[in-house]
Amino acid sequence: MTDLFDAQHLWHPYTSMINPLPTFKVKQAFASTIELDDGRQLIDGMSSWWCAIHGYNHPVLNQAVTDQLQRMSHIMFGGFTHDPAIELGKALLEIVPPSLDKIFYADSGSVSVEVALKMAVQYWTAQGKPQKTNFITTRSGYHGDTWNAMSVCDPVTGMHQIFGSCLPIRYFVPAPQSRFDGEWDAQDIAELAKTLEQQHQNIAALIIEPIVQGAGGMRFYHPEYLRQAKLLCQKYNILLIFDEIATGFGRTGKLFAWEHAGVEPDIMCIGKGLTGGYMTLAATLTTRHVAETISKGEAGVFMHGPTFMANPLACAVAVASTKLLLSQDWQANIQRIEQHLKQGLAPLADLEHVADVRVLGAIGVVELTEAVNMASLQQQFVARGIWVRPFGKLVYVMPPYVIRPEELEFLLRELKAVVAEITSGEANVPA
Ligand SMILES: *Cc1c(COP(=O)(O)O)cnc(C)c1O
Repeated sequence: MTDLFDAQHLWHPYTSMINPLPTFKVKQAFASTIELDDGRQLIDGMSSWWCAIHGYNHPVLNQAVTDQLQRMSHIMFGGFTHDPAIELGKALLEIVPPSLDKIFYADSGSVSVEVALKMAVQYWTAQGKPQKTNFITTRSGYHGDTWNAMSVCDPVTGMHQIFGSCLPIRYFVPAPQSRFDGEWDAQDIAELAKTLEQQHQNIAALIIEPIVQGAGGMRFYHPEYLRQAKLLCQKYNILLIFDEIATGFGRTGKLFAWEHAGVEPDIMCIGKGLTGGYMTLAATLTTRHVAETISKGEAGVFMHGPTFMANPLACAVAVASTKLLLSQDWQANIQRIEQHLKQGLAPLADLEHVADVRVLGAIGVVELTEAVNMASLQQQFVARGIWVRPFGKLVYVMPPYVIRPEELEFLLRELKAVVAEITSGEANVPA
């Protein structure tokens, strides 16, 4: 099953090169189906980590890439511009918070986070407050794997033990505790208020994933947290950065998760679903005020410029993907998936080894009481014809929006069967 060359030479995400996790070779994928090299077909529960919102091999997106390919796949963005970048910009400004007006295209989510942090620092330097260089964030966050993105990830589940001594030290406050669908507990914001009161002079920005903390724990928190956080940012002169890389493009039931709270950020990162999962592209958006302040600063420019900035192929498919999403009744579709996930996963809440079951939009999470053996569990999912990749205590699904009711039914049935079997200890047998 595992390819020998692959196992010997290719590094996969977060894996060992001595004892690599098994990998499954994929031949092709279409809509919600992934076909393995040996012909087995899997129903996709992951959308390739939030990205493939329209499923795989979509004719409209294929066409957009092919059309652009005939013209040019890439051209430098220094000194040149092109229709795909312009059209994407126009499409994005229609759907992001109204206060956002300027767009910086970046190569990946992590880079867009780096760009956001740099914008915040350049902004305060230009405002004559060069001491405002640090950042504040909540625990259980995830913002990417590059250096400064890593520094604002959760200090425990993130990589701070490994890189701690060479990472910049950030301010961390407890993760929001009030559940999305529960009561708001005013205590929830107390630590943020206290730390900002004491440290605001050193802090450039608060960076946070609105509503859904993704890879840091798949937690859904109360919109009031964001409203309170915004007030504090205004009070203490702190920029607010929303990392919508995972939550964007309808995943939570709104086009972007800030809409649950009605709170607009000063800077916002998007990525993942932006190209419908076709290729890597992200963007950092900001307000006219922030952009103009940076541009009036001593440097006079914003200091970042990736080689593949605004890659035309990526922009073209992002335009097609965004238009495709907006051309449908996507809200009704996400609601259909949400209802189905709620119904399907609810019975698991009664199991002794299940700590919590939660659903928001097209995200379904089963939190177990103990960490799972990922390799063994993944093998069981594949044996049952579904693609689900758990991590830690979390078994979760975020299927492509095109998943059909009978496919979702199958995905949930097989997932439940595997999770139910964990009681007997089977899933925890070491790989
Ligand atoms: C995935 C993710 C990132 C990092 O994006 P990459 O494209 O993997 O670099 C940052 N923030 C959040 C919330 C993410 O989910």
